[in-house]
Amino acid sequence: MPTVVDCPTCGKKVEWSEKNKYRPFCSERCKQIDLGAWAEEKYTIPGGAPTDPLDDPLDEGKQ
Ligand SMILES: [Zn+2]
Repeated sequence: MPTVVDCPTCGKKVEWSEKNKYRPFCSERCKQIDLGAWAEEKYTIPGGAPTDPLDDPLDEGKQ
């Protein structure tokens, strides 16, 4: 009995086998979509805009 997993991108049932080189994804497209999502998350800072440490000395000088 083959191992079946859910494609993380679209939720489609995917057979986990040596034939499926995109596992656990159902297709190359879904794999690329997931990788793209991860890349976007890297650039998203939770909690709003990041503080630029280079701005701090300038702000102190002004005040
Ligand atoms: Zn998929």
